[in-house]
Amino acid sequence: MTDGLVIVSEEVCQQVVGRGDAFTAVEQVFAAMARGDAYNFPVIREAIRHADALYGFKSGFDRAGLTLGLKSGGYWPGNADKGLTNHQSTVFLFDPDTGKLKALVGGNYLTAVRTAAASSVSIAHLARKDAKVLGMVGAGHQSSFQLRAAAEQRAFEKVVAWNPHPEMLPKLGEVAAELGLEFEAVDRDRLGAEADVIITITSAFEPLLMAAQIKPGTHIACMGTDTVGKQEVDPAILASATVFTDEIAQSISLGEAQHAVKSGQIRENDITPIGDVINGTHPGRSDGDEITLFDGTGVGLQDLAVASVAADLASKSGAATRVAL
Ligand code: NAD
Repeated sequence: MTDGLVIVSEEVCQQVVGRGDAFTAVEQVFAAMARGDAYNFPVIREAIRHADALYGFKSGFDRAGLTLGLKSGGYWPGNADKGLTNHQSTVFLFDPDTGKLKALVGGNYLTAVRTAAASSVSIAHLARKDAKVLGMVGAGHQSSFQLRAAAEQRAFEKVVAWNPHPEMLPKLGEVAAELGLEFEAVDRDRLGAEADVIITITSAFEPLLMAAQIKPGTHIACMGTDTVGKQEVDPAILASATVFTDEIAQSISLGEAQHAVKSGQIRENDITPIGDVINGTHPGRSDGDEITLFDGTGVGLQDLAVASVAADLASKSGAATRVAL
């Protein structure tokens, strides 16, 4: 990037950042976090008592990728009535050598792409190579991004899906059809019995999948739990699985592991950063029958990593707007 502030709109982010770019950026930053080269600062999240909104910041610094900045935004439940997305965010990137603002990047599309990249990095490193059936629990905004990214990691033939609101499933079925994958809406027993890889991406506050429903060898990416109190799976699944995460501090406080840790079914030491697997300091899956679980809590460094890619690519292609501050 040259001098001046680069502005990258939502539309341009969609044009320039592909799933491959997001995968590489997220994989690299998870690796940097595990090496101690990148760290997330404490998250701020506040109910602002206006418009029923939740507003906050996720920030951090990646010394390896030289990415410094923050994602600011949150959740405005009344936005849908105004024709806007309820989740709103913008990424601010700063020059780590001078502190000057370098880029303003729309964060809505990038949030979905970086979240899908996180689960697909986990599938790439932890799922059985011969996985054929993908199980989807959830059918909201994030789910189609998750499905598209996961489909690139293994030679899946079929998607089995369940959602607490079944009327949302046909839309996910259309994405599967577009990808050439057979799609079937099933109950949770069948989902667990058939799926080799499961992604959970809901706003649930109670377990949707129980331990007895998960077969040996499954890889589960729990992606919906990103807040204290949320929960998607039975803590006994974590007790029977080898558990990986993006960041241990978030995993035990607001991720899926919060419940298993609180109830004493696992300890903090039982959780491995996925970056250790990427860096080759942890072997990952040890055999075909092992259940692996990725607790994808979502960290600010993921946002900064993909926003940095967006700013670079948009600058190179001339699609970014440039202003002097
Ligand atoms: P969405 O509102 O578009 O869809 C919500 C999904 O959850 C749907 O499948 C819906 O049927 C289901 N659902 C709604 N209320 C539920 C309830 N009470 N119990 C069980 N299921 C319920 O949301 P989205 O944008 O697809 O996001 C899904 C989840 O992913 C949210 O919890 C969101 O906070 C989380 N998320 C996580 C990350 C991360 O990095 N880990 C990033 C973005 C979003």
